[in-house]
Amino acid sequence: MKDCIFCKILQKQIPSKIIYEDDLVVAFEDVNPQAPIHTLVIPKKHIPTIAECHEEDYSLIGHIHKVINEIAKQKGLTERGYRIVNNCNAEAGQTVFHIHFHLLGGRLMHWPPG
Ligand code: AMP
Repeated sequence: MKDCIFCKILQKQIPSKIIYEDDLVVAFEDVNPQAPIHTLVIPKKHIPTIAECHEEDYSLIGHIHKVINEIAKQKGLTERGYRIVNNCNAEAGQTVFHIHFHLLGGRLMHWPPG
């Protein structure tokens, strides 16, 4: 997608700190971290929101969660705990319209979220 910042990141058109990549997904560090560990995992396929997934996309969403768990393990979060966040559309605070899952960890998380 031409004007999508995350498409530009995965195409290496703009710099980012990529920590994992495979045929389906890219993971990179959030530029404005909200926790000591704040990684974003995105599909290479441009899907604007989680609400716009089609049937064939749900295995990709599952794969993203597998990658998140592997990154969390590498970062020593498995036992401590971590939070996975997907914001969908305006009221949830979505600002980039290319599906992304936030992996947040390294500090105590509060509930309910803001
Ligand atoms: P959301 O509000 O759920 O749409 O989250 C978008 C996230 O993307 C925010 O946490 C931003 O800090 C992050 N972000 C925006 N631009 C970049 C970028 N160029 N590199 C890394 N993270 C970014």
